[in-house]
Amino acid sequence: MCGGGTYELSDPLLVCRYDVCHVCGFTYKQPRFHPSPEQERASYDQHENTLEHQGYVDMLESFLDEAVEPFVRGGKALDFGSGPGPVLYELLRLRGYEARHYDPFYRADETVFEETYDVITATEVFEHMSHPRREIARLYRILNRGGHLSIMTSLRPEKDGDFLSWWYRRDETHIAFFTERSLDVLIRDAYLTWAYSDKAKIFTFRRF
Ligand SMILES: [Zn+2]
Repeated sequence: MCGGGTYELSDPLLVCRYDVCHVCGFTYKQPRFHPSPEQERASYDQHENTLEHQGYVDMLESFLDEAVEPFVRGGKALDFGSGPGPVLYELLRLRGYEARHYDPFYRADETVFEETYDVITATEVFEHMSHPRREIARLYRILNRGGHLSIMTSLRPEKDGDFLSWWYRRDETHIAFFTERSLDVLIRDAYLTWAYSDKAKIFTFRRF
């Protein structure tokens, strides 16, 4: 992420290895342990994230209250990585946003990249990215000046021992784990700045 040197971290239980940056702490599952697109799809098909799941809806409503509405009220919105049931997209529309959504597996509608947005949301998406720099650059290009990118991804525990026993890591489709410092490098290189952080999993960035 930052160009710093890395060390290898091995997990004997899941039988996989990670590269961890000495400088920014960004942790990346080594590519040979990444799931295939078929395995990824099979895993996402099991996600029961629909409007009928109240707990999931409540979580997304709080995300909107905390990370989106204080910065952007109404306007054009894109939910990036909307998954099998585009719940956040539905909630954005209910709140009056002119929303669209995109997902490489479930709604690969590339025309969303021909427009620009006041806000882009990406919940539980960045930890799945094999190329976070490339993806954030793509999002930057379709964000209006002064627009916001609001994301949800859990920050990696600081200590390697805690990282190895962390539940979040057990999902095999999670391959990229951020620290606050590595997020900082990622967004600054993409010409974004911090607008909000809950210091744990919810972050909003602003385009200059
Ligand atoms: Zn680094």
